[in-house]
Amino acid sequence: MWRFIKSLSKPAAQPNQLPPQLDLSPARRVLVIAPHPDDETLGCGGTLARLARSADVHLLLVTNGDGGGGLPADTSAKRKAEMSAAARTLGIANSVLHLDEPDGKFADSPAYRSALSAVVQRIDPNWVFLPWLNDTHPDHARISRASSEVLRRSSVESLLYYETWTPVPATHVVDITETLEIKKAALQCHATALQYGNYMDAMLGLNAYRALYLPPGTRRWAEAFAVTGAKKNDLL
Ligand SMILES: [Zn+2]
Repeated sequence: MWRFIKSLSKPAAQPNQLPPQLDLSPARRVLVIAPHPDDETLGCGGTLARLARSADVHLLLVTNGDGGGGLPADTSAKRKAEMSAAARTLGIANSVLHLDEPDGKFADSPAYRSALSAVVQRIDPNWVFLPWLNDTHPDHARISRASSEVLRRSSVESLLYYETWTPVPATHVVDITETLEIKKAALQCHATALQYGNYMDAMLGLNAYRALYLPPGTRRWAEAFAVTGAKKNDLL
């Protein structure tokens, strides 16, 4: 591994095949599709904290976040409040939008597609972040596929698939070193989720791993994405 990292610092002796850093400047209005409260922070929180300074960022929570049964009756309301706090922590001024689909049992439907279309028409984003198509969580994969189909027929320019349960085939990387503390604070807002999994260490592990794509030298943190056009989606 060290030999590999060292080879990356040699000037153009061999082509560097690692994903390039993503240019954030084209993002004007950004929509983030989150299946559950916490996905927005885990998958792209560091990037959103950067984008919130220059773009209009909107979060859309697709399911009601109630855990799909077996949790206290106020879980949905509690997790929505946690997500709003996380959004504010990331510097996102807009209120979180809700579609209240069933948690753990999301199924593609004409109702979902038209509700998402209405949100997209109203917000008019040019970038959309969404979960990875082949994520192992069924809600994530189904929401990703259904949303990608809807976004094909929109004026959205770029889709940015983020990673949570399953790594994406990364095309781009974003340096989140300067927003890592904000991202960690946003994840701390998701107290309910943190009771059920050590998401903090998982997130830091993934973001440390993705930082291997950044120029070597200092300790850094990164988020990786699979980026494609919305109309000509070569990942579908
Ligand atoms: Zn999720």
